[in-house]
Order: sequence, then C-alpha cells, then structure tokens
Amino acid sequence: MRLSHWIDGAAREPAGNGWLQVFDPAGGKPFAEVARGNAADVDAAVAAAQRAFPAWSSLPNSERAAWLEKLASALEARLDDFAHAEARDGGKPLRLARDIEIPRAVSNLRFFAHAATQFGSESHHGQAGLNYTLRLPLGVVGTISPWNLPLYLFTWKIAPALAAGNTVVAKPSEVTPHTATMLAQLAAEIGFPAGVLNVVHGLGPEVGEPLVSHPAVKAVSFTGSTAVGRRIAGIAAPMLKKVSLELGGKNPTIVFADSDWRGQLPIIVRSAFQNSGQICLCGSRILVERAIYTEFRDAFVEHALALRPGDPMDPDADLGPLVSQAHFDKVVSAIARARDEGGTVLCGGQALDRPGWFVAPTVIEGLGPDCASNREEIFGPVATLQPFDDDAQALSLANAGDYGLSASVWTRDLDRAHRFGAQLQVGMVWINTWLMRDLRTPFGGTGQSGLGREGGNEAMRFFTEARNVGIALPH
Ligand code: NAD
Repeated sequence: MRLSHWIDGAAREPAGNGWLQVFDPAGGKPFAEVARGNAADVDAAVAAAQRAFPAWSSLPNSERAAWLEKLASALEARLDDFAHAEARDGGKPLRLARDIEIPRAVSNLRFFAHAATQFGSESHHGQAGLNYTLRLPLGVVGTISPWNLPLYLFTWKIAPALAAGNTVVAKPSEVTPHTATMLAQLAAEIGFPAGVLNVVHGLGPEVGEPLVSHPAVKAVSFTGSTAVGRRIAGIAAPMLKKVSLELGGKNPTIVFADSDWRGQLPIIVRSAFQNSGQICLCGSRILVERAIYTEFRDAFVEHALALRPGDPMDPDADLGPLVSQAHFDKVVSAIARARDEGGTVLCGGQALDRPGWFVAPTVIEGLGPDCASNREEIFGPVATLQPFDDDAQALSLANAGDYGLSASVWTRDLDRAHRFGAQLQVGMVWINTWLMRDLRTPFGGTGQSGLGREGGNEAMRFFTEARNVGIALPH
C-alpha cells in the first residue's frame, strides 16, 4: 500500500520521489509506504490552500457547517474500516479505536460543524460608542499532529480551523499516516471543495519545518513532544506567527484514603495504562496517602497484572504494543534507568517475548520526586507509586517537575477537591474521574506542557483574528 499526499483534492506523489516505510507495531514489519514529502510538496499544498481560501472563507457559515457534517457522516459510515486501519497503524486495540477514538473523530467534526454556526463575537456599548468585534479567518493554517491518537487529534485541529473559514495544510505523523490519508480521500469522494483540506506527509524536519516557516501559513497548531514544540516556537516566534502548542505531560494521580479507591480502581488503572500509556493525559505518577499505601499498591499491581496485552485485532486485548521500535527502545531504557535510580519494579519491567513492540504493564516504587523517572515523560505502560502523609505533601509532590498538563484527584472531601482544583499547577484537573471530556472546555497545559488552549471557543478564537470596529454614536 502506498499512502500519497492529498493536495488540491487529489492524491499526489512526493516531489522528491521518496517513500518511508510504515510499520505494523504488533508484528514489527512494514505494511505500507508513505510519501516522504519535502518543501516543494509543502509549497504546492500551501498554493492550493491559498487558491481555495477566498471561496471557502466566504461561504455562509451554515454551508461550511454542512460540509463538516457531511464529512462526519461519511466517516461514521466507514467507522469500521477506519478503526481497523488505526488499530493496525498504531498498534492500539481495535476496541479502543472502534469504541472511542474514531467515534471521537466523528464528534470533533460534528462539534465544530455546530461551532461554525454558533460561534459569536463580542460587542461593547458605552461611553466610547459602539464597538463590535469581527472574528475573521486567518487564511492558510498548518496543523501538525502526533501518532498516539492519530485521527482523533488530526480532526481536533482541522475541524475548528475549517469551521472558522481557514484552509488547511495538515501534516500527520509519519509513524501513523493511514487514517489521515483515508480521511482526505473520503473528503474528495464526497466532493469537498478542492484545496480546502490538504495533507502532506513526511518527516518533521523535511515537511513540518517548511510548513511552520512558510510565510503564507498564518498559524500553526501543533500537538507532540515538548522538544519539537520548542523548536517550532523558535521558528514561529521571529515571524510573529500564531502558534498553539499541546505538548508532553507527567501527570499526577492523587489518591486519598477517604476516596472510594477500591470501586474506582479500574478507572485509576486505565488512566495509567490506556493505549499502553501513550496518551498525553495518562496518570504516570501515582501519589497515594500513606495510610492506604500498601493496600492500594497491592491491589493496583494485581489489576495491572490482570491486563491482557495482545494483538490489536484480538477483542480481548486490553493493551497493544508500543508504536515503533524507536519508542520501544526509549521505554525499555527508561525502565532500566528507573532500576539504576534505585526503583523497585513491582510488576512488568520487561518486553514481552513475542514479535512486535510489546512492553508489560510496569509499576515501580521507591523513587522520589527528583529522579528522572518521576520528572521525564516516558509515554509507555510505566507508572510509579509514591506515598504522601498529608495534603501539603501531596500538593508539593504533584506540582514537582516542569510539566503541567493534567491531574486527577481521588477524594470524597469536597473542600479538598476544590482546593486541589485551584492549587494544582496544570491545565486540567479531574476529580474522581479521568479523561472525561466535554469538547466545549479549554484543553491544554502549563509550563513545559504547552502554550495556548484548544477546544470549543478557545479553538475558534485561535483560528480567527479579532478585528474591532468602533462607531461613534449620536449623543
Ligand atoms: P513528536 O514531537 O515527535 O512529533 C509530533 C509531530 O511533529 C509529528 O507529525 C512529527 O513528524 C512532527 N515533527 C517532528 N519534528 C518536527 C520539526 N522539527 N518541525 C515540525 N514538525 C516536526 O511527538 P510524537 O512522538 O509524535 O508524539 C508523542 C508526544 O506528543 C508526547 O510527548 C505526548 O505527550 C505529546 N502529546 C501531547 C498531547 C497534548 O494534547 N498535550 C496529545 C497527544 C500527544
């Protein structure tokens, strides 16, 4: 299978004739090739998007909404095909792709279809007359997305960009390019206006950077690692270009003795290991009140041992492999480093003896907040446990480190829940739940977890320029 770019409504071979291999993580073997794009492909895609912009941006909002609805329905009708492709490409359990991720991609398209017609702007009436604010599309925008939730995050970016009237050049991850290609093809099949949504594949430095630095690209929405986010910020800042950066995390899960932790253990375990820990929101640092530490630890390990790693197509598999050889090597070496730092591996701690890039769910204790294992993102099925004595220590452990994406707090004490909601230095706090998402809410992190917010009106504001018009009123 060859996955080409989609530019101007048609499949396009890479200008440099290069192709990259795409691997099936469950077997470790290549199953497809994807276009290895370069700056010439980016130029062609940006030119197509520029040509498409005047007509797309001047459509009535309701017509842009109708196109997004149509794409959502077409995707929904092909849900099974997309779920299979996502499961094979990223190694995630088919169940996860079919029940959560592809339906969420459909919801993203639908949600922002509605936003296209419901997004309003401010007006101010007073001593300085009447001021009203126009929210105008920016023009051509770039989106760059990662491999962990491929179509889910791809649509999370393109949908608000298109709803707001921009045209898009999207760069999916070269590691999981399949479903973005399928979506671009589907858009062409349903007659989406050519050039409105363009997909350019390839490596970050060869396609991502030319996209970020292209003078006609007015804004870049990026989700990925902190290191790459920093690099993108470095290119965009001197150009005074708008960027939204959704980066890594090292999220705390704070379990108090008064919580219903026994009943909620399945969610707490899922928050650590869903998608083999390859979700930016996974709780990888589990902080447990000392009074229940031993009991909680033993139950948590028992649940982790009960998770069934398996082939993504196996309906009983809870966990799939890691996405790539490079990522597998990184996770395995992080586990070795945790041992070197003095951590005790309570379960897992090794690769599974089978083809593909499987790592057993791993739980580690005995490491303090300053060690690399508790500071650096591992992004695999690896969680650490740390005890705490009181609220102050829980808060200081939770806030230790440079990231600030999300946290979950497990307690029945309402005052404490609100206090932690206010004092945790993160962008998102969940109380007695995890990854409960309302698409209207601001999504994003602080510190090394990023800059800016996505979701709902935040995304619509990011993808528009505010212009205020002030009118003198008769006295
Ligand atoms: P990555 O940063 O390696 O790659 C992300 C995307 O950026 C890919 O499309 C890649 O090709 C591109 N890229 C790489 N180098 C680039 C460059 N120099 N210029 C422009 N683009 C470049 O990240 P990844 O390994 O694909 O994804 C995992 C990371 O994403 C983790 O750190 C995870 O926490 C983070 N993530 C964050 C969120 C969030 O919402 N905060 C969500 C999912 C994943």
